[in-house]
Amino acid sequence: MSTHPKVQVRKYYISQRVNRILPSGIRRFFDLLASMEGVISLGVGEPDFTTPWHIREAAIYSLEKGDTMYTSNLGMPELRQELSRYLEDNYNLKYDPDNELLITVGVSEALDLTMRAILDAGDEVIMPDPHYVAYDAGVILAEGEPIKIPTSQENNFEVSAADIEARITGRTKAILIGYPANPTGVVMSRDKLRQIAEVAQCHQLLVISDEIYARLVYGVEHTCFASLPGMQESTVLLGGFSKAYAMTGWRIGYAAAPKDIIAAMTKIHQYTMMCASTMAQVAAIEALKSGESSVLEMVEDYNRRRQVIVKGLNSIGLPCFEPRGAFYAFPSIKSTGMTSEEFAERLLIEEKVAVVPGIAFGQGGEGYVRCCYATSLADIEEALSRMKRFVAKHKKA
Ligand code: PLP
Repeated sequence: MSTHPKVQVRKYYISQRVNRILPSGIRRFFDLLASMEGVISLGVGEPDFTTPWHIREAAIYSLEKGDTMYTSNLGMPELRQELSRYLEDNYNLKYDPDNELLITVGVSEALDLTMRAILDAGDEVIMPDPHYVAYDAGVILAEGEPIKIPTSQENNFEVSAADIEARITGRTKAILIGYPANPTGVVMSRDKLRQIAEVAQCHQLLVISDEIYARLVYGVEHTCFASLPGMQESTVLLGGFSKAYAMTGWRIGYAAAPKDIIAAMTKIHQYTMMCASTMAQVAAIEALKSGESSVLEMVEDYNRRRQVIVKGLNSIGLPCFEPRGAFYAFPSIKSTGMTSEEFAERLLIEEKVAVVPGIAFGQGGEGYVRCCYATSLADIEEALSRMKRFVAKHKKA
């Protein structure tokens, strides 16, 4: 017979850290959508293109050859070399492929590794609000404190150096930004980023720059934060293949940072992931070597859709800031008097159009919805006509 006392109350196993974060507002909403037919989705932020054939072919060939083993923790040497070349060609930055680059399971893993590598309990990370859904969750899971700067259409969803400086305390460790931005599509100018760099330098803060949408800019220049004067030594540059090369499902990305930070991130990565998928790494090599023309074609296509959706949203009474990057429009829905969740839910039920409530991206996103335009022009046009009917019906006098 067991000598253990009978357990009366089931122990509560979930950590407070995990209880503090909410399930992604995007995913929750799309469970509802999955059960409906005839829905036009401007929802999940992923390209509607399939990965270009030559990239898929490279991966298929590697499987045929039996290339199925683990790679080095850091990632395949050839991929790190190609990446180093890419960063030098595009931004004039020199990263040592053996010490300053880490291949990760998407920018998602790279973000998580960065937070866990740099934060101690209670350390603060300053970020704009609204922001990509994983930013505050990543900080909280690493026991840090997200410190948010509200932004709005009135200030073009930009954060200023002064806004950041006003929030620096003795616990501030890093600034987390990402331009072009999700969900707003804003691209910050080189000049304004330089002002942020000066604040970071003055207060010895690390800057984590999520540049996953770097290639998706329309008529403006993307500034790589690490390329600003003196910033390579204090920037963790995160980049990936998901968006530019239409490779979301491959789960492949990277971090470029000073040697000690990459070494710290690699320690966590080697005990958790070991390495990114071998097949995806082969595909990423091909993308870097020969993917340029496909990227340019896709960007041209997104740009056409961007123009249609922004013009359309403005004309149906949903004022929309002009996004110059990524593939999102972020119109204000304040004229309807609804919360962003109410708007998104009713639009889905009444007109079968899926958008993401702005609140999913933080309090600063309330009053807006995110519309992803990485979908066909025909669908965008149909979605706009359904939204027009919806807005006309619900507009407050
Ligand atoms: N960062 C931003 C701003 C994103 O929008 C996304 C995906 O939507 C990610 C990171 C995650 O990218 P990955 O597919 O490389 O994990």
